Amino acid sequence: MTKVAETVLEVDLGALRHNYEFLRSTLRPGTKFIAVVKAFAYGHDSRIIAPFLEKLGVDYFAVAYTSEGIELREAGVRTPIMVLHPQHVHFNSIIDSQLEPCIYSRRVLSLFLETARSRNLKTYPVHLKFNTGLNRLGFEEKEVAALVYQLGQQQHIRAASLFSHLAASEDLNEEAFTRNQIELFKTMAAAFEKQAGYKPLLHQCNTSGILCYPDAHFDMVRSGIGLYGYGNDETKDKLLRRVGTLKTIISQIHHLEKGESLGYNRGYIAEHSTVTATLPLGHADGIGRQYGKGKAFVNINGKKAPIIGNVCMDMLMVDITGIDCQEGDEVIVYGGFPTAEEFAATAGTISYELITGISRRVKRIYT
Ligand code: PLP
Repeated sequence: MTKVAETVLEVDLGALRHNYEFLRSTLRPGTKFIAVVKAFAYGHDSRIIAPFLEKLGVDYFAVAYTSEGIELREAGVRTPIMVLHPQHVHFNSIIDSQLEPCIYSRRVLSLFLETARSRNLKTYPVHLKFNTGLNRLGFEEKEVAALVYQLGQQQHIRAASLFSHLAASEDLNEEAFTRNQIELFKTMAAAFEKQAGYKPLLHQCNTSGILCYPDAHFDMVRSGIGLYGYGNDETKDKLLRRVGTLKTIISQIHHLEKGESLGYNRGYIAEHSTVTATLPLGHADGIGRQYGKGKAFVNINGKKAPIIGNVCMDMLMVDITGIDCQEGDEVIVYGGFPTAEEFAATAGTISYELITGISRRVKRIYT
């Protein structure tokens, strides 16, 4: 742990390596590992995280958008990259950067085929997404026959994989629903393979799917949040290590008398004499105003300091009454105590939203 002099996201690459190796150890030998590094590698900086994971031997990367894939190529990543949600205006860039689009509808298939034909591509790899119950993106079961037919009419692209996404793999109360998704995926994949006469790679599990449904690992798995240390499974979560710790410092300490107000819109009125600390991070750094309205606290010298008043763009204030601290002292916003999940929960949200929201202006340091 380093002592910081500004707001930083400290990223523990040893923990990342541990999580990758742990998740990999749950797979059968030969099962491929797709590292999901969209949204700036869940806030940890994909330009550092992906090359690090590439050296450890991940088989694939997944990003949401084309621009994220291009950024990885610019960082020197050579491993295959699938683009989960490409927009057709970027199909030429996808091909230029050797990215692999996920195709989720007849419309997107036709548009990609048009580009593939115009560029005279031969068996360019694409990934076909099946809807098994998330109802967000994907071909329906009744569309599989037409899909196979359309693919069979050309040689410009080939299905490198078939995949689907689980809606509630972290929630064991929804096990029956998840089992239905897995069974439907198997049925759709079998229909595809039978009609097409070949077997693309199959994948369905995200992190909690990997941890909770080992029989659904198929040929590949896609892990995002688990790599960064969160698994949504209380028991197995303990086997993962938290990768990111958001730290800052106390810029200034103020003393409020009873009745004095704090911050914009006088968002906090002292009910008794109160000592406050101003910290150099705010909603432009990814700590939204909702954190000033709930039960969020930061850790100052091991003590809980509640966030009070309205979070500003570049600053927020905490109540440090009774806490032994001074200007310049280090503050832990999340990572350890409180954890990102605990911090996020105080504002009614989840670790995914919190960690992907830490803006790029927050310096990342790697240990
Ligand atoms: N696969 C798809 C299609 C996703 O959208 C995501 C993340 O949202 C993942 C895999 C990774 O999920 P997780 O971060 O829960 O491992």
